Amino acid sequence: MIYKRSSALFAEAQKVIPGGVNSPVRAFKAVGGDPIFVTRAQGAYLYDADGNRLIDYINSWGPMILGHAYAPVVEAVVETAKKGTSFGMPTEIETKIAELAVSMVPNIDKIRFVNSGTEACMSAVRLARGYTKREKIIKFAGCYHGHSDSFLIQAGSGAVTFGTPNSPGVTAGTAKDTLLAKYNDIEDVKHLVQANEGEVACVIIEPVAGNMGCIPPKPGFLEGLREICDANDILLVFDEVMTGFRLAKGGAQELLNVNADIVTFGKVIGGGLPVGAFAARNEIMDYLAPIGPVYQAGTLSGNPLAMAAGLTMLQELNDNAPIFESLAKKTKYLHDGMHKVLKENNVVHTINRIGSMISVHFHQDKVIDFETAANGNNNTFKKFFHSLLDQGIYIAPSAFETWFLTDALTYHDLDETISAIAKAAKIL
Ligand SMILES: *Cc1c(COP(=O)(O)O)cnc(C)c1O
Repeated sequence: MIYKRSSALFAEAQKVIPGGVNSPVRAFKAVGGDPIFVTRAQGAYLYDADGNRLIDYINSWGPMILGHAYAPVVEAVVETAKKGTSFGMPTEIETKIAELAVSMVPNIDKIRFVNSGTEACMSAVRLARGYTKREKIIKFAGCYHGHSDSFLIQAGSGAVTFGTPNSPGVTAGTAKDTLLAKYNDIEDVKHLVQANEGEVACVIIEPVAGNMGCIPPKPGFLEGLREICDANDILLVFDEVMTGFRLAKGGAQELLNVNADIVTFGKVIGGGLPVGAFAARNEIMDYLAPIGPVYQAGTLSGNPLAMAAGLTMLQELNDNAPIFESLAKKTKYLHDGMHKVLKENNVVHTINRIGSMISVHFHQDKVIDFETAANGNNNTFKKFFHSLLDQGIYIAPSAFETWFLTDALTYHDLDETISAIAKAAKIL
């Protein structure tokens, strides 16, 4: 495929935007080459500036679970925009989406909307600290909770891709309050809690890790966290920015049957517009301003366009529960097909999958945490990525990212993808 126009646009962009992108993972630094500039997208396909059609396995990093330019969402946004795009005053639609979200997700009474997953996680941790009157938090190596200072300590995703897990600009004072644990290692968490008795406000975790590839929790791991938190008056925060409204109507809490104290959302909840949210039971949420002492705010929070997109998306998912099964079936089909052709070509690999999240790792060991995820052969991944791209298949330009399937994918698209993987496998 030819990417002349994309490369020209990237050259222009680099003059006025750092690295030519507004979020680092969009650059192709980890795989080499220039990023693709998109002009439009429809269903499962992206169309780029050179006129190429790509089958999309990123889907805006998760939100487009029903496909791009999904008609009911687009219509809702257009109709809402005609009536004004922001008021800074309450609107009825905010209550409607809140009611729907609270009805879909287990264990939450109230929800507050913000503009990104980063904001949601940052606010959730402030709330946890305010509520418990403790300062330390436990996070897991390789988990990404957005780019607020407290979380840029061995974060996954872009922060790993670029080898700067500890970003300059994060103060030592902030970093010392973030305790790091190993994903899927309950003993590690126990030790940290013991060593910091009475000081830990919350444990924040991606209940299914998605920012170091896709890593499901081991059986008993989340249950173990729940027990430790209960025994030590620590709040358990599930960062469901990626898994919320993707793994099930009620997200990972529902699928894995473990309750969190605070849940954060982003991605799917905005239907492709900038939305994040955090939610909990009444006693915790009522600790927030204006009724409680913990401050949190936003000029564009609950923005009508964003709420219209989000509400329509949640309604579609709520009314069509088989979507989650359909997505899981498609993802398993891709898994089986990919495994078969990689094996036939003697490509050493491990595939992780849960629901509509899947990742392939180029080594033979089980991938269960950050260490094992980092063992993958990055050269093999680079070749794999570029071969797929040449064949019109777009996966994330980093070995540390999950693929997110969209229900707009047909079995024909999946077969085309598996054939492309078979071709790629021959050159690995
Ligand atoms: C994407 C992501 C975030 C950050 O959300 P933004 O909207 O990019 O700020 C936080 N947590 C998880 C698990 C994510 O996948």
